[in-house]
Amino acid sequence: MNKLIIVVPCYNEEEVLPDTIRLLSGTLSDLIIKKKIAEDSKLLFVDDGSKDRTWDLIEENAKLSNYVTGLKLAGNVGHQNALLAGLTVAKDKCDVTVSIDADLQDDIDVIEEMIDKYSEGCDIVYGVRNDRKTDTFFKRNTAQAFYKIMKLMGAKSVYNHADFRLMSKRAVEGLSMYKERNLFLRGIVPTIGYKTGCVYYERKERMAGESKYPLKKMLAFAFDGITSFSVKPMTFIMSLGIIMICFATCMAIYSLVRFNQGEVIKGWTSLWLAMWFIGGIITFSVGLVGEYIGKIYMEVKERPRYIIEKEI
Ligand code: UDP
Ligand code: MG
Repeated sequence: MNKLIIVVPCYNEEEVLPDTIRLLSGTLSDLIIKKKIAEDSKLLFVDDGSKDRTWDLIEENAKLSNYVTGLKLAGNVGHQNALLAGLTVAKDKCDVTVSIDADLQDDIDVIEEMIDKYSEGCDIVYGVRNDRKTDTFFKRNTAQAFYKIMKLMGAKSVYNHADFRLMSKRAVEGLSMYKERNLFLRGIVPTIGYKTGCVYYERKERMAGESKYPLKKMLAFAFDGITSFSVKPMTFIMSLGIIMICFATCMAIYSLVRFNQGEVIKGWTSLWLAMWFIGGIITFSVGLVGEYIGKIYMEVKERPRYIIEKEI
């Protein structure tokens, strides 16, 4: 039977944690009774340097319950890193992991469906929200714009999927081959490969406490997501340079005609031409240098070039 570890990153979550522990323990024992997972399956709470009683709660519950285990990080490293820490520790102790936010906005009832898909041979199963009724108008639209921009920038990402997903041991092992610091799991996981699946659910409201993602963090997260996946912004600058040079050429013809007609102030033609050509060439050059930096950038990430699934 497969041992499951549910990884839950927590940052200042004292208000929701008791409920989260209760509900997730219920899910776990349910799955154990149905013989879908091994009896020694666990919950792993990762305390991401919380300043409140989060860690105390985890410790207390670990004493009381067989299911609860914990991991305390030395400081606040952010959701994505906390999640990676949890997955990395979990992968050596289990066959399959599920990651979920502490606020249980994601539907824990679909974990069973995820396990079923895993048994059918999927190594990665994405939890996808099929509506965002409970999000505010603002959050819904900014989030959706973000997924669209990501797609435009050529990064693979699963639409409306956050970090609620199942990953098999070997998928997490694949993930740990990615050495990069700018960790954007939603973008990296789809590049690992293997057979994947999706389960759909309705996203709920936060049970208690408030979002740990204020607008500032959300924008930083989106910017990180784009810049750590795509060098398209650089290509864009180079194209802009080319357009400026083409425009300069048209302008050259125009200003020479005006010059011949003698309608212009002395010096206008040369200034006008120099401005557009130099501007265009500088923009083009910056873009070109950017392309090289983009290549260096991709190299230093040292991403795995392939992951082997089978050999016969
Ligand atoms: N989180 C974390 N470290 C941080 C910020 C958030 O581990 O620095 C955790 C948080 O406890 C929660 C998850 O990341 O389990 C998602 O955060 P939140 O629910 O506040 O984000 P939202 O759902 O509003 O996007
Ligand atoms: Mg949340």
